[in-house]
Amino acid sequence: MYIIKDTEIKGYGVFTSKSFDKGETVLVGKIIEELESNHSHASQVAIDRFVFHNDIVRMVNHSCEPNCGIRVNESGAHDFIAIKNIDIDEEITFDYAMRNYSVEHFDHQCNCSSKECRGKITGWKDLPQNKKDEYVSWVAPYLIEIDSLQLQD
Ligand SMILES: [Zn+2]
Repeated sequence: MYIIKDTEIKGYGVFTSKSFDKGETVLVGKIIEELESNHSHASQVAIDRFVFHNDIVRMVNHSCEPNCGIRVNESGAHDFIAIKNIDIDEEITFDYAMRNYSVEHFDHQCNCSSKECRGKITGWKDLPQNKKDEYVSWVAPYLIEIDSLQLQD
């Protein structure tokens, strides 16, 4: 179903072996390990819960202009859903800010090479408001919860 390829600038990436229409599920997430705290490959699935997803989901690279967003599935894991039409042999990407409130493990420059690149991989808390508005239906729900809690302060 998927092809792992060396992207040269970002290490390995996950590429499609078929096309997807907007709204289709591209990858199904499965939680394989609970973690004590945040980690560079951890997924944050609640305000204080960090997990590892299955390998294929873990290998998906960040983009500041991604083709996938996140939806929580019945098991509580994150599926990747196409937020635009995706061609065959296209790299599957999502924005790490859709999943993690803060990203502190990536000091280096972002290599996504999209037109909208923010220059650095950031978490949800550092996203500009227009990006939050664009992503709002495609992010881990706890991120929206944190924002609404802070509005009440
Ligand atoms: Zn970028």
